[in-house]
Amino acid sequence: MNSFCELIPFLTLCREYPTREWNLTDFEIGRPLGKGKFGRVYMVRTKCEPKYILALKTLYKSEIIASRVEKQTRREIEIQQNLRHPNIVRLYGYFHDEKRIFLMLEFAGKGELYKQLSKYGRFSERRSARYIDQMADALSYLHSKHVIHRDIKPENLLLGITGELKIGDFGWSVHAPGNRRMTLCGTLDYLPPEMVEGKEHNEKVDLWALGVLMYEFLIGKPPFEDRMSVQNTYRRIAAVDLRFPASFSLEARDLISKLLKYIPDERLPLSEVLKHPWIVKNREKTKESV
Ligand code: ATP
Ligand code: MG
Repeated sequence: MNSFCELIPFLTLCREYPTREWNLTDFEIGRPLGKGKFGRVYMVRTKCEPKYILALKTLYKSEIIASRVEKQTRREIEIQQNLRHPNIVRLYGYFHDEKRIFLMLEFAGKGELYKQLSKYGRFSERRSARYIDQMADALSYLHSKHVIHRDIKPENLLLGITGELKIGDFGWSVHAPGNRRMTLCGTLDYLPPEMVEGKEHNEKVDLWALGVLMYEFLIGKPPFEDRMSVQNTYRRIAAVDLRFPASFSLEARDLISKLLKYIPDERLPLSEVLKHPWIVKNREKTKESV
């Protein structure tokens, strides 16, 4: 066990060590943080000093097999383990026993962003811009590694202890190019026209989703939502039927309109998103208030 304890301050290095070195008995199990599709997520602390807090996500093997997502799960783990970015939840390592797989995740201290959005109804332009700035940075890192996220939505975003945004879920990510077939994944509201229409898609789907996310942050609901009919949502997406509430600033409208383009190649690239006046202006304001 000693060697394990010595590893703790160097958790970042644990990828270099065999995953079988980790074991459930190495942790004190704390409160449940949430419930995932295949099991619960717990706050845990390493038993040896210095006590390190993590989120331990359990996945029941039987349920993964029953849902036939063995490959996808493996891919999710492989992808996340190789990512290092301040706005992406870090996967430090994993281990398994007979029944379960355990993912050792960076603890996102302020929990789900979705809860905050439900609590406040919407976010201010400044707060929304800060999140979109962080998302654009994380997505540009992902795309540079040829990873498409494909499932951006508030439910998959967590908040770190200082309120920074963290992408927390890689269930639907794919390594691009790879499988570009139309697969009905993600929440309907965040699907781009090319996916709604069953066409091939690429990393530009994340740019569309970023526009949808920005809209939802600012008003509390996604732009093409139609609670009466799914068909209507599809239709509105395919027609890019975008309507802005009066409360949106001109700059916010401008950025959303440049992301929500029917033709994927016309969507504003992430490098330009990071330079957009709405982002820059709010970034400066945030700096001033610190
Ligand atoms: P779903 O498909 O419902 O999103 P999932 O299997 O993808 O489920 P997660 O979303 O990863 O599971 O985790 C479920 C919940 O556990 C999250 O919504 C969140 O509340 C909590 N949680 C997950 N990871 C962390 C973390 N790293 N830090 C803090 N809380 C977390
Ligand atoms: Mg999730």
